[in-house]
Amino acid sequence: MTVAVDELPVEHFDGRSARGTLARLRFDGRQLVLCAGADERRYDPHTLRWPERTRHGVRMAELPDGGALHCADAAAWDAFAQRCGRGDSLVVRAQQSWRWVLASALATLVLLAALYAWGVPAAAQAALQVVPPSLDRQIGAGVLAQLDAEILQPTQLPPERQQRIRAALAQAVAAQPAGSVPEHRLEFRRSKIGPNALALPDGTIVLTDALVELAGDDADLLTGVLAHELGHLRRRHGMRLLLQAGAVGLLAGLVVGDFNSLLAAAPVLLGQAGYSRDAEREADAESVQLLRAAGISPLALVRFFEKMAQREPSAGAALLGIAIASHPADAERIAFFRDAAQR
Ligand SMILES: [Zn+2]
Repeated sequence: MTVAVDELPVEHFDGRSARGTLARLRFDGRQLVLCAGADERRYDPHTLRWPERTRHGVRMAELPDGGALHCADAAAWDAFAQRCGRGDSLVVRAQQSWRWVLASALATLVLLAALYAWGVPAAAQAALQVVPPSLDRQIGAGVLAQLDAEILQPTQLPPERQQRIRAALAQAVAAQPAGSVPEHRLEFRRSKIGPNALALPDGTIVLTDALVELAGDDADLLTGVLAHELGHLRRRHGMRLLLQAGAVGLLAGLVVGDFNSLLAAAPVLLGQAGYSRDAEREADAESVQLLRAAGISPLALVRFFEKMAQREPSAGAALLGIAIASHPADAERIAFFRDAAQR
């Protein structure tokens, strides 16, 4: 097939069949003419959704009748589009100018520096108000799957032991004012990370077998740890951590409604980054309230810290920074719970 110079070979998709047909596109000075065999269609160039000239690859334009045009030869497409009077938009021209790229990279750096120096915690707190809770749930589910694939194994705890822990937690929760306890779901897992617990943004609380073994017969100790994790959930600390770590990506997400980069980063951030001291203090304070309402002394958490201190230091303990166990300044927290127990 010979093609006139001003004709562009394209693949035409009519929007009904999944298969494209070879066609030729030309511009008669006013309208685009699409010829596929004997079939000829005409389009006003303004009614097309033209592809942006951002990178190499197949150019795809959407037709007003629901069809689409594909062109594998990006350079030929761009030249054709130029002949049709389709100059690049300002954004595309800017993206292809190195001066603009440099300037926007610098502006982004300055913005990042400013956010980290002055505004990230405040910005994250503000963003938390506008981020829908459905995103918390979406992120939590993905994170558990990731952790299961990498560092968690199925629990070896006997079902009746799990059931006793669930029952103790349910009893403590039942004693709370209505609506004060966030949605949650307890999951047991075995892991090399030692005695640990973590709360994922969707309300999943993971308790390791080693922590259950550490608690022994001390049911209140476990309830204390779970109360602390419920505190993290109630204050949405997991999401706040993600927002702080990904402040800029999140702002972009809010603008374009695309949170994929945040979702992709979530397992790493939640698995390895730690909560701030402030977040731990908030969760500790929440746990005291919850324990009090359930008639359990905050000394339960003092016993937890003491038992942790008696253990051999474990290399894995620092892996999950989100967990209650990996934070320094335990002495301060022990003092806090002792004090709370006396009031
Ligand atoms: Zn914690």
